This record gives sequence, C-alpha cells and structure tokens, in this order.
Amino acid sequence: PTSPDTRRGSRGKRDSQFDYKSDAAKKVEIIAKNRDERRQKQADERAIRHQILHLEQNNPYWEFSQMIDEYRAGLDFRPLRDNDAVVENQIVVCVRKRPLNERENRRREVDVMSVPTRNQLVVHEPKQKVDLTKYVENQHFRFDYVFDDTCNNDLVYKFTAKPLVKTIFEGGMATCFAYGQTGSGKTHTMGGEFKGKQQNFKSGIYGLVAQDVFKLLNNSKYARMNFTVSASFFEIYGKLVFDLLAKKQRLRVLEDGKQQVQVVGLTERIVTKVEHVLDLIQKGSLERTSGQTSANSNSSRSHAVFQIILRKGGSKQVEGKFSLIDLAGNERGADNGKSNRQTRIEGADINKSLLALKECIRALGRRGAHLPFRGSKLTQVLRDSFIGEKSRTCMIALISPGNFSVDHSLNTLRYADRVKELIANDSMEM
Ligand code: ADP
Ligand code: MG
Repeated sequence: PTSPDTRRGSRGKRDSQFDYKSDAAKKVEIIAKNRDERRQKQADERAIRHQILHLEQNNPYWEFSQMIDEYRAGLDFRPLRDNDAVVENQIVVCVRKRPLNERENRRREVDVMSVPTRNQLVVHEPKQKVDLTKYVENQHFRFDYVFDDTCNNDLVYKFTAKPLVKTIFEGGMATCFAYGQTGSGKTHTMGGEFKGKQQNFKSGIYGLVAQDVFKLLNNSKYARMNFTVSASFFEIYGKLVFDLLAKKQRLRVLEDGKQQVQVVGLTERIVTKVEHVLDLIQKGSLERTSGQTSANSNSSRSHAVFQIILRKGGSKQVEGKFSLIDLAGNERGADNGKSNRQTRIEGADINKSLLALKECIRALGRRGAHLPFRGSKLTQVLRDSFIGEKSRTCMIALISPGNFSVDHSLNTLRYADRVKELIANDSMEM
C-alpha cells in the first residue's frame, strides 16, 4: 500500500519529467505556495495565541491591563506643563503618582492610575463579579494638581511649596505635608531623590524651600527687614518627640496659659546659606533612619517635621515659619487583627493624628472654626500654623500606581478629597 507521502513523491517525479512548466504545473505551484503561506500564517497566529496564553497564565492581571489600555486609548491626555498657571489658594491639595518600581514590575503589577489632565485622576479598580467575570471600576478624582509619573521633584515643588515661601516673609505661617502609604514616595518628594541608598537632599522640597528662602532674603523687598533664618528638625513617634539634630534626644511639649505650644529644648540652628541647611537635612535624615533593621521600619511610623524659622534680628519673636512634614505611612492606621498590641497602639495613634490633621486643615479653610489641635501631638506642635488669616498649607498625597496598592491608594485619595471638600469652589478650574 502506498502512503500519501510516496504518492506525492511520485507525482513530483512525474512533474520533473517536463523540461518546461505547463500552465497546469504553474497553477499547482501557486496553489502550493499559497498553501505554504497560509500554513505559515496559521503557525504565526498559533504562536501569538500561545504567547498570549503564556502571558495570561503568568499574569493574572492581563485582562485588567487590556481593559485599562482600552480605556486609556479613549482618553485625551493633556497633562500638567511647566508653564501652566500656579494657583494661589490658602489650601492646596494635590496628588503625585510615582512610576511602577522594580518590585512591582517583577510581580507584573498593572498600573491602575491614569492622569488625563493637570487636575484629574482616574483609578481603574480591578474587580470581579460573582460569576468571576473581571471588570474595572473607573473612579474619578479632581484636585488642585495631579502629578503623573513623569513629573520630577522640581516640577512638584514649583506648584506646591514654592508659592508658600513668600508667605513666611509676610508674617504668615506655611505648612506642606507629604501624605501616603509607606513606599509611595513621601521621603523622595520631601527629602530628595534616592540613588540607591544615597539621597540627593538638594532635590527635595526641604532643600528647595531653603534655596528659595535665601533667594528671597536677598531680594530688595525683604533685605532691609534684617531677618535671621534658623532651622529645626524633629520626629513625632506616638506621643513622643525626638530631636533629629541632637541624637534623638527626647523632648517635652508644653502649652502655656495662652495656648502657646512649645517644644522645650528643641535644637534650632541659625543658618546663613543653603549649604548649612542641606547639612542639617542630611544629619537629621540619617538620624531618622539610623539603627533601623529594614529601610522603612521606624521612619514609616513617625512624622518628621523640618522647620525653617524667620525672626527679626536678634528678637525671640517668630515672624514666619515654614513647616515641612513627612508624615507616617497612612496604612499604619488600618492595621488589622494580625498585628501585635504595640503595633495596634501605634496604628491607632497614627490614625488619630492624621484625622486630627485633616480636621485642623479643614478648620483653617473655615475662618473662626474650632481648631481641634489637642487631638494629637502633631497638631499640637503645629497649632500656630493653623491659625491666622495669612496661614497657608499644601498637602501632597502620594500614591503607588500598582494594582496591589489600589486599596491604600483609594484611602489616600479619599482622605485628600475630604481635606479639599470645603474649598471646592476656592479656585478649581474645570
Ligand atoms: P515613603 O517615604 O513614602 O515610604 P519613599 O520616598 O522612600 O517612600 O519611596 C520609596 C521608593 O520609591 C524609593 O526607592 C524612592 O526612590 C522611589 N520613588 C518614590 N517616588 C518616586 C518617583 N516619583 N520617581 C522615582 N522613584 C520614586
Ligand atoms: Mg519615608
């Protein structure tokens, strides 16, 4: 019996007997060529399907990623630009999204945050129906600014803390907070960009504020006011306060009969140039993270407060003060039942201070409102910054872009939203 192969072989042999190609032979050749091409195409398609399947099997979020890509394809992206107008609100609330980091990429996390315009953010929350169908819930937020993952610290600074520097030269108080989950970029934004373990303190908001303070000091408008500049740096850990410029010496907070709050014995260094300030920032930052077993163990549970203070000549009277605060990780407030007693107490403390902070900022927006500053150590030491018509504040909410962080990010955004709520008609451009 002849197998199909030998039959084909014999036909081939017969064809080769012709020394020219008949029309029929040419047709056969074309058909064969088409067939080969078709087979190749099918093989390619199979390979692609296989690749996709492979991707899918290795990435459970692949479907979500597809849905988010589709959504993005329909968006008209007009992100913030360097020359956009700076708003001069008393309270500014903004959000910064960092890029996916190496760890998140390795886990094949999906970027679930879109920043279509300079003040809008869309969270694509991965969800599953009871029948296991996957879908994304798109939630929209609006803030004074939303910084996407391409923005650097200089740009963030320009729209957040920079407009507040002049406030302290004009008899006002300024505060700038970095709020968000551990690992979302608070210290990167406030202290400076990291290169490995090294931090470039010149590139952080602390350093950038210092630079502009000295610029304004020499400005003809303020030069004749004879301001003295000094700086302090401390840490609030639960109810305890530690001096970051004095080997974490423990400090007491006292309130006198006139509700004046004092951090007793806090180191305050007079500074005459930016380099001095950068030295202090470096010293305090190293002090803050020293003796830690993992990079974010202790510092994520404490609030760091860096202050630049202006006084006239040798006077004791404070003329203006800029407080820059790297807040404790907000996920600590949501510690679950698994954590131990100590962690739960810490979590409750952090939660309480962040809630008190929110209320104090809201009170600043409503003139004459009751200021619940006694709600926590943090708000107590910042009391004088929440009073006075000239006080201004800026909150930078930091978010991680990955799908693993979506719950924490939504918590952060809702908190920031509540801070903004009362001032929604302040000057939000639609
Ligand atoms: P947090 O202080 O909120 O815990 P960090 O500022 O320490 O977070 O940031 C965690 C990591 O992410 C750091 O390695 C930091 O360099 C990196 N990172 C944070 N924000 C950015 C950003 N905008 N661009 C690039 N890397 C960032
Ligand atoms: Mg940090």
